[in-house]
Amino acid sequence: MVINIEQTIPTTTLLSDLYADPTKDIRVEMLRLDMVHPTISGNKWFKLKENLAFAKSIGRKQILTFGGAYSNHLVATAAAANAFQVDCIGYIRGIVDQPSNESKTLLACRDLGMHLHFVSREEYAQKANKHYLLALQNLYPEAYIIPEGGNNELGIKGASEIAAYLPSDTTHCAVAIGTGTTFCGIASGLQNKHIKLLGFTAMKGGSYLKEEIATLLPQNIQWELYADYHFGGFGKCTSTLIEFMNHIYSTCQLPLDFVYTAKMLLGVIDLINKNYFPPESKICCIHTGGLQGNNSIAEKLIF
Ligand SMILES: *Cc1c(COP(=O)(O)O)cnc(C)c1O
Repeated sequence: MVINIEQTIPTTTLLSDLYADPTKDIRVEMLRLDMVHPTISGNKWFKLKENLAFAKSIGRKQILTFGGAYSNHLVATAAAANAFQVDCIGYIRGIVDQPSNESKTLLACRDLGMHLHFVSREEYAQKANKHYLLALQNLYPEAYIIPEGGNNELGIKGASEIAAYLPSDTTHCAVAIGTGTTFCGIASGLQNKHIKLLGFTAMKGGSYLKEEIATLLPQNIQWELYADYHFGGFGKCTSTLIEFMNHIYSTCQLPLDFVYTAKMLLGVIDLINKNYFPPESKICCIHTGGLQGNNSIAEKLIF
């Protein structure tokens, strides 16, 4: 399988009838980064492309990165490396006892040509440790190492491009947060400083990210972090969430992923109902892609 490097311009989907009170004069739409590329989904495409282009420009022949068995970043990296025609190694969190127990995500990574290297959770925990990374670099001298989640400066630079796709009358932009790289990228690409950025953390206790994000944001950015819409924690799913996703799909033909975008959108709707947004707000939510992650709950979804 060879992946095409072309990207398409993302469009927006208008979300109507989302909230209880239709008299609120508020527009909600979704910027469809999930449609930006057929295989390299959503924000990952933006975070990876600058990294891959840079790796190639300095003559590296291999990409090495990190992820769990359901990681969107891992499969996006496998696809991006394929598209840029460089070799690719994935360091996978946790030992998988038998190949038959591999997740669909890992199988997709293999299909795209990624070499999988399983490491214990203890070793994996060192993924950002300076000495560990030096040792890895010595082991793979040809490799360009991308941190988990594409969380580096080039990731932020690539994600800054997303800001250009926001409708010009946007007043608020809502983004799901994992590492915060995409959030910081959009912030650094914003021309219109009146747009307020709202981040929704996908993990429990996500407010610890606030300080880190604050140091990475340009000045004069208006922003807020919401850490209470994790629905039990990272990768956790509730029946409310499933019902919501199926409802949004049947009313708006919009597929959401359960780890990030569904939780973010539920957060936005909750804030609308709590009158957080002034009348005439124009909210642009970012669909950061990652629909492959729904494979693990496929039997519960109508799409
Ligand atoms: C990875 C991912 C995120 C989180 O992006 P960060 O830049 O790490 O904050 C959000 N949404 C989806 C669908 C993702 O796959």
